[in-house]
Amino acid sequence: MKAIKPVPIRRIEGELHEARARQLEQVLEQSGEAVIVKDLDAVVTFWNREAVSLYGFSAEEAIGRPLRKLHAADLSESDYAKVLERIRAGRPTSSTTERRKKTGEVLRVAIKTTPLHDARGQLVGEITVARDVTALHRTEEALRAAQATLEARLAAIREANRSLLREAASRRKTEAAMRRNNQALAATVRQLETFHRDNEVLSRMAELLQSCARRDEAYAIVRETADHLFTDAPGSLYIYRASRDALEHVAAWGDGEPGDATLVPDECWALRLGRPHFVHRRSTTRCRHAQQEAESYVCMPVQGQGQVLGLLHVALEVGSRTLRPADDVERRLRALTDRVGPALANLNLRDALRELALRDALTGLYNRRYLEDAIERELHRSARSGKPLSIIMIDIDHFKHFNDKFGHDAGDFVLNAVARTITKHIRPSDIACRYGGEELAVVLCEADLERAGERAETLRRAIRETNLTHLGQSLPGPTASFGIAAYPGHGSRPAELLKAADTALYRAKQEGRDRVCAAEGAPTA
Ligand code: GH3
Ligand code: MG
Ligand code: MG
Repeated sequence: MKAIKPVPIRRIEGELHEARARQLEQVLEQSGEAVIVKDLDAVVTFWNREAVSLYGFSAEEAIGRPLRKLHAADLSESDYAKVLERIRAGRPTSSTTERRKKTGEVLRVAIKTTPLHDARGQLVGEITVARDVTALHRTEEALRAAQATLEARLAAIREANRSLLREAASRRKTEAAMRRNNQALAATVRQLETFHRDNEVLSRMAELLQSCARRDEAYAIVRETADHLFTDAPGSLYIYRASRDALEHVAAWGDGEPGDATLVPDECWALRLGRPHFVHRRSTTRCRHAQQEAESYVCMPVQGQGQVLGLLHVALEVGSRTLRPADDVERRLRALTDRVGPALANLNLRDALRELALRDALTGLYNRRYLEDAIERELHRSARSGKPLSIIMIDIDHFKHFNDKFGHDAGDFVLNAVARTITKHIRPSDIACRYGGEELAVVLCEADLERAGERAETLRRAIRETNLTHLGQSLPGPTASFGIAAYPGHGSRPAELLKAADTALYRAKQEGRDRVCAAEGAPTA
């Protein structure tokens, strides 16, 4: 509402035109708000229609009565005094407060007060414009309550959200932990499978090695197994020679450069130290035998029955910090060497036993049983190849007499010396043996009767020239008689050939000893 000019209504009634007064009153009546005018004692001088409907007092009831008797009846003495003081001070105010209707109902009203001056500008009262804001207030209250409820709910939702987030985070954590667990589980399963596969491969290898009769078979089995276990890592197996001065390269797998044919123990750190040697590609402690390679590798001594029998050299990845291969790779490597070592030792032992069973203890030559088998085998080979084969039978002359004269020990000594002389003068492929007593025999592979005659002559002379000293006693050089026979001319079975050679030997004895006699017949070359 527009500011009401401070016009003293009753006073101007007479001063202004009637029309103007009515007009003014009409404006005030139709302002749509309760308008109350009171004098300096808070006695009502004007009360419009809206004031009637607001407070329930009629204009007749209100005009001429102080506020105290009307809607301000509830005000305390001090509050009423404040109202009076305000009116008299001519201070405009604006407030929302509670007032009581005539019916006793309490209202919430928005009040705006303006001081009222007369024509000379003298303060004569106050105009109050009041509006019922009870409903508004209630709505506001309700809104505030709703807002509070909403805020509380919002806070609860926020809290719920936060706890959901916390839950989600912990669920994510749980899920991540579960994922990790699953991965670990999968890795373990994979590891177990590898374990199982490795074990199968290694057990199979051990089984095969167990029933291996020959070294080359054993090496082939190791090569195949290593190739299977170390798919991407080429490697080699070296085995000590019987002389133990060097190792021979016996197997290689993968597509790396095959190693040197031999390796001196001094060239390998693993052999020098007697333990595995792991080398990273940038390491300076490379073995001399691996100087040409650029990659990481491992050297594993292969041990069996308390002895280093060989070496596994594998181009495996070696960690730059750990200076070891990956755990499972190292385990596999050790499992391999742990099985290969005893198997090789077993083969060595078997070879040694076989040698022992096949050799004569006094002379170190093969025994008669071996000779017969060997002749049989070599005859088959000759039959296939069409090449000849000869036998030399040797018998020491007057050996009984020698024994009688110099003693049995000296006899043994001579027998051993003769055997060594024979071994020295034949080829590695020839087979020398002690046929029995002081009788010896040599099988010459791929030699005809003529070659056998030459060889026998060489042996005869060599035996004759043997100078012997036994226990400080100088012994006379022994002599021997020789009988030779050849395949195919003198037979195609061992017994036939041996008989023919023996007959020739008998003839040599008869003809005066210390000589070579060939079996009779017409041998073809
Ligand atoms: P011959 O020239 O006719 O061959 O005369 P021999 O004395 O060598 O022949 P004989 O067959 O009569 O005697 C063989 C002797 O060889 C008998 C045995 O004392 C001796 N002898 C056989 N085996 C051994 C042995 O292992 N050690 C020694 N010390 N003597 C042996
Ligand atoms: Mg004899
Ligand atoms: Mg004799």
